[in-house]
Order: sequence, then structure tokens, then C-alpha cells
Amino acid sequence: MTSKEILSAHSLRNTNSRSDVLEVFLQKNSALSQPELEKEMHECDRVTIYRTLATFLDKGILHKVLDDAGAMKYALCSHIHCSKHYHSHDHVHFKCNLCAKTICLENLHIPPIKMPNTFLVQEVNLLIQGVCDTCGAAKTELIA
Ligand SMILES: [Zn+2]
Ligand SMILES: [Zn+2]
Ligand SMILES: [Zn+2]
Repeated sequence: MTSKEILSAHSLRNTNSRSDVLEVFLQKNSALSQPELEKEMHECDRVTIYRTLATFLDKGILHKVLDDAGAMKYALCSHIHCSKHYHSHDHVHFKCNLCAKTICLENLHIPPIKMPNTFLVQEVNLLIQGVCDTCGAAKTELIA
């Protein structure tokens, strides 16, 4: 999907900042924090980026990704599962300790966790850390 298609699918007006933010996410294909995003943008107006992220979260274009560094990251939603006011994310996030990328593993679901009855679950996050496939492949090549 292109940034234009994503915006129109969520009935959002196509503005430069919106399509720029989306382009970065489409290109990187990994989760990004706001400072990381700002570095990639040609024009960096923090308030606009902040507002754009808030709009995308609300519309179901981006979802929050918890990161071990304590910075909130954002990743593209799969357009099939998310819509306005409804995010469905039970997938695992993976943080690579070598390239520091955090990626969505959309096909890997977090197993159901039985909570005591008196607890109300509102959000579940699972971050797995290790070596991603790209870095792992590079390493094997080095050894061979
Ligand atoms: Zn979502
Ligand atoms: Zn990696
Ligand atoms: Zn994700």
C-alpha cells in the first residue's frame, strides 16, 4: 500500500506531513520512536509530527510498541485488523540487540494469559529480544 492509499482508506486528507510520516514508516518497515522519525523527515516540525502520530493512532494506522529503552515507538497497523477506535494487536514485537530495530511479528500471536478474576486487562504487550533474521544471516556468513 502507498501512503496515499492508506490515507484515503482512513478518509484522511493527504497533507505533506502525513504522507511524509507514512513514507518513513513504509520505507523502514520497523517500529520508530518520535526522535527517530524526526531524523528521517525532511522538514521537522515536532508539533506537527506529534499531532500526526496522534491522528494515526486514533485512526488505526499506527499502533504503540513498547520498547526496552523506555521510548514509545510506533509501527504500522495491518489494515485488515485495525480501524478507527479499534486496534487489534495480539502480535509479538521483536527487538534486535544488534541492529536495534523493533519489528512487528504479525503472524506470531501472544498466547492467552489467565489473569486472576479481580484484574481487568486493558492492554497486552510482549517484547522479545534477540538477534533478527537479517543480522543472524549476516553473522552466519561471517563465520562461513
Ligand atoms: Zn492497530
Ligand atoms: Zn538485527
Ligand atoms: Zn506491531
